[in-house]
Amino acid sequence: MIDFSIPEEQKLLLENLRRFIETELAPHEAEVEEKQFVRPELAAELRAKAKALGFFAMYMPEDCGGGGVGAIDMCLCEEQFGWTKDALVRRTFGSIPFALQNCVGEQRDKYLFPAVRGDINIAFAMTEPNAGSDAAGIRTHAKRDGSDFIINGSKHFISDADVADGFIVTAVTDPAKGKRGISTFLIDRGTPGFTVGRTQYMMGLRGTNNCELIFENVRLPASQMLGQEGEGLFQALSIINLVRLGLVGGRAVGMASKLMKMSIDYANERRQFGKSIGEFQMVQAMLADMATEIFAARMMVLNTAWEIDQGRDPREKVSMVKYFASEMLGHVADKAVQIFGGMGYCKELPLEQYYRDARVYRIFDGASEVHRAVVARSLLKSGTHPL
Ligand SMILES: Cc1cc2nc3c(=O)[nH]c(=O)nc-3n(C[C@H](O)[C@H](O)[C@H](O)COP(=O)(O)OP(=O)(O)OC[C@H]3O[C@@H](n4cnc5c(N)ncnc54)[C@H](O)[C@@H]3O)c2cc1C
Repeated sequence: MIDFSIPEEQKLLLENLRRFIETELAPHEAEVEEKQFVRPELAAELRAKAKALGFFAMYMPEDCGGGGVGAIDMCLCEEQFGWTKDALVRRTFGSIPFALQNCVGEQRDKYLFPAVRGDINIAFAMTEPNAGSDAAGIRTHAKRDGSDFIINGSKHFISDADVADGFIVTAVTDPAKGKRGISTFLIDRGTPGFTVGRTQYMMGLRGTNNCELIFENVRLPASQMLGQEGEGLFQALSIINLVRLGLVGGRAVGMASKLMKMSIDYANERRQFGKSIGEFQMVQAMLADMATEIFAARMMVLNTAWEIDQGRDPREKVSMVKYFASEMLGHVADKAVQIFGGMGYCKELPLEQYYRDARVYRIFDGASEVHRAVVARSLLKSGTHPL
């Protein structure tokens, strides 16, 4: 027998999380949308409250001070996070790159533990103006100079760069080795030659800021390398499953669920032609389509999370989930705006904001086309499909 029920303990955690988001985060959403940042004092206050309840750094392993939750729990938490703004989630619950787990020796005291305690913020920087989907095509390079490395190049679109104290940065250490010639470095804000450049304002997700990074002859001791030389790309790919599944798939399900709830309420309340608009079959069809797609995406997310919790590496399924859940969110957001009519398009309600926020899910962490290509390549190579 397959048991799909959520154990009581998890249900309680999720209810507490939901209540916390409603009471502590929701009141600040409009301010963050308008100001396009989370005030540092507000971030500190929210983080302290989240820490007191054990909600901070939940996804990091217990042996480094995190909550140590598994993939299923992570996805269920992400569903809750989808009910509020990404910037508030990052500042309140932590946005700690999984790659920090590769810290060794003194790196653990300098970066890993302070990040898990919420004392510092770390951003993950891979994308460059000429290398997005093609992460192996980066040009930022790190040249050996005695026992140091000299870094030159640039990154862009780096989330949290405005608040980050440190950065995990990929750079080419051996151009002759292609994918195996990329390494990862820990670089502190303020390191001579390193500049956090302009903020690149986006269509949505306001408050989560993205910036350029510029490296001009940045000298780093070899001890700032994270993991082994030449493993940078593989490190990034080894942890990206969880990001794509939870932070994109689970979050998309949560965001879509919020839109679904708002649409149901509006369809029941809004009256035209003497009836609630929910009585019109064409509105009903939109609601039914939304609910069906959300259900499908949720099952895909949780099934794939279960596989990860079993110690498997379901990367084709993760690609299917990333692709399907982000496209689902786009369809749901579009229908929600339609159900709200002119009010859906009007800035007096947050529907237009959610519609803008939804758009990027099909682009970052591997665009839909790239994930479809991954799935298709796997099907053709294996001659079968994963169940
Ligand atoms: C809001 C936001 C936050 C981000 N945060 C970060 C961050 O914190 N750190 C970081 O390193 N990066 C970050 N990124 C970068 C993000 O991961 C890239 O934008 C993404 O990987 C796509 O790369 P690109 O924008 O260069 O698009 P491109 O790679 O130029 O793609 C353009 C188009 O070509 C298509 N395409 C490309 N290759 C193929 C292919 N092989 N087959 C079919 N179609 C293809 C794409 O699907 C897309 O439609 C962020 C981006 C955004 C928008």
